[in-house]
Amino acid sequence: MTEARQRVAQVALPVPMPQCFDYLPPKGHELPPIGSRVLVGFGPRRLVGLVLGHTDSTTEPRKLKPIDQVLDEALIDEDLLVMHDWAARYYAYPPGECTQLLLPPALRRVEPFNPPGPNGFQLTDAGQQAEPKRSPAQRRVLDALAEGPQLRSALVSLGIQSSTLKRLVDKAWIEAVSIEPSLIAREGPVLSEEQRQAVGTVCQAYGDYQAFLLAGVTGSGKTEVYLQCAIECMARDEQVLLMIPEIGLTPQLIERVMNRLGTAAFVYHSNLSESERLACWQAARCGKAKVVIGTRSSIFLPFKHLGLIVVDEEHDASYKQIDGARYHGRDLAVWRARYRQCPIVLGSATPSLESINNTEHGRYQLLKLTARATDAPLPQWRIIDQRNQQEGLSDTLVGLIKKHLASDGQVLIYRNRRGYAPVLMCQACGWQADCHRCSAHMTVHQNQKKLQCHHCGHQSALPHRCPACEDPKLQALGAGTERLETTLAGLFPDYPVHRVDRDVMTGRYDFERLLEEVKNGGPCILVGTQMLAKGHHLPKVTLAAVLDADQALFSGDFRAPERLGQVIYQVAGRAGRVVNDQGLPGEFVLQTRHPEHALLDRLRHGHYLGFATQLLAERREAGLPPAEGLVLLRAEAHQPEAAWAFLQDAQKLWQQAGLQAQGPIASIMPKRGGYWRFQLWLQADTRATLIDTVARTWTALYGLPSAKKVRWHMDVDPTEL
Ligand code: ADP
Ligand code: ZN
Ligand code: ZN
Repeated sequence: MTEARQRVAQVALPVPMPQCFDYLPPKGHELPPIGSRVLVGFGPRRLVGLVLGHTDSTTEPRKLKPIDQVLDEALIDEDLLVMHDWAARYYAYPPGECTQLLLPPALRRVEPFNPPGPNGFQLTDAGQQAEPKRSPAQRRVLDALAEGPQLRSALVSLGIQSSTLKRLVDKAWIEAVSIEPSLIAREGPVLSEEQRQAVGTVCQAYGDYQAFLLAGVTGSGKTEVYLQCAIECMARDEQVLLMIPEIGLTPQLIERVMNRLGTAAFVYHSNLSESERLACWQAARCGKAKVVIGTRSSIFLPFKHLGLIVVDEEHDASYKQIDGARYHGRDLAVWRARYRQCPIVLGSATPSLESINNTEHGRYQLLKLTARATDAPLPQWRIIDQRNQQEGLSDTLVGLIKKHLASDGQVLIYRNRRGYAPVLMCQACGWQADCHRCSAHMTVHQNQKKLQCHHCGHQSALPHRCPACEDPKLQALGAGTERLETTLAGLFPDYPVHRVDRDVMTGRYDFERLLEEVKNGGPCILVGTQMLAKGHHLPKVTLAAVLDADQALFSGDFRAPERLGQVIYQVAGRAGRVVNDQGLPGEFVLQTRHPEHALLDRLRHGHYLGFATQLLAERREAGLPPAEGLVLLRAEAHQPEAAWAFLQDAQKLWQQAGLQAQGPIASIMPKRGGYWRFQLWLQADTRATLIDTVARTWTALYGLPSAKKVRWHMDVDPTEL
């Protein structure tokens, strides 16, 4: 080839292919800078892409297309591009995912996005004098604004329609304004000695990278430690990123942060509107946001001067993305802190074995809070045999509930199963209602008179007779939250019973409202799933119980004991946070069919860190994560043979590259949504070799003919099997 090499832009596009695409500069222009957004033709489509690099093209320039339009100057800074590059390699995902990760949705669209105007309204001079005739709605707006500007959201919550506001703007009686909340930082409580030491140690690390694991028993005042560290960080004119699990982001937390720090907290998660996400993205980028509270995706936000990262409830499974780019938000946060040279605090009452492992190797520094901030003792434990039970509740537990309610206590009952009952069985022939698309039972939903598969969503009417033998004696086995609610309401008719699960808490603020009500209310029973186990502070709860967690004792997932321990300690930690007026100490009940199980004994007689350290030793022994690295290749197909064949091809490919690829083996749930699921386990002598070899070889999978017949993905450091 004699033709001069042509410089081209390597553009990442949101398409499921393992490479960037080369484009020529726009006609008559230079190449756009790295990190800028461009609009390009891709087949028949036009797509927004990110320029990730410049290179000499190896394709003949005549075959390349020019970029249609350069949308902005380097929008994404180098540090984020470097992190994304690292993440794409480590987590083995295609570079095109970066548009999803690095750009808020509003900036991924081909059409220009017009963010809505300011967030509030005020009266104009004309509006001060105005007398709306025959329009009580307009009168209400003018009255509401008479005292001063108001947020749009406040007006809407008064029942005022957007159309009314628009009409008043058209009349020039009101005008849109931006309202910045004026906040004054409130003093926090006097820190305990342990809290003070933790804050002091973190603050000494400012300006340098250091990772801390803040292991504090439930209610020990971890949040208070984060807030004090954040105050110091802001005093250095640097920004704070506070990461929280998906379910942990509550208006209460936001309010607490704003009140203590005296600054607006910007919020970032995937349930926000496009303009809310864009606003946060921009505020982080220009430095206006002193504090950002966000879920895992916030780790990809641009920050002008990031000075501190906090990852609350660092053990929480929601930090791991389970589709697309399967990154771990906590682990990327540690990477980012190191790159940015700032401290990071990972906090939890029940830290992950990964983080405990890192403290044992000296990579993270362990900070402990061993006592509750409120001086209340940790609850008493009881393990109750569930074998003589009524409708999922043992007599002993019922007696305890009675005692606590009578002493003005509130009761919290955790059951990790929504619906009425997990199994419907025919008493005559033993038939069970199974999902035909999944290896799973259908759950009985009695109120809605239906069966529902909790894995694929399939639903059918609740049968009156056995479909196999026509016998009418169908029995619902076991109890989910719906059944427990009914039973408890029957047993305790004088007290409110609140159910908390995804079936009843459907509105954005339903749970929030309930928590508020319970906090301010009298004795009551809360019964619910996972939502209840997370860090909510319910000072009046004196009795907490975990029902029927036995499945975890015999699960094929090596992480099941760790998760069980976390749930048990978290739920136990809800009880007796404050000593109640009648001096009733907190109690915790674990109800099980296997009271003699060794794992439960260990949980009961230890504390979480001791329990976890022992589990970690067992994982080391077994060569499992976090002691060893693990990568899964998963494949699923309607025909099991197709998935099997693809994984065997992949296995050959990796054996040539020197990796041990075990399998193919069926997933713990072999069939889901009509797909048969298999996986390969990849391991190597060292984690570095594993990651390195996978990074060099995985894209070859796209070239396997058998890959076309299956759905497949890589999962590095998988959290589910
Ligand atoms: P955690 O995050 O560890 O669960 P929080 O920080 O939410 O704990 O604290 C639990 C409760 O104790 C909160 O109501 C908090 O205001 C209170 N608290 C925290 N630190 C102190 C302290 N040093 N003195 C008194 N109360 C405190
Ligand atoms: Zn039958
Ligand atoms: Zn199903």
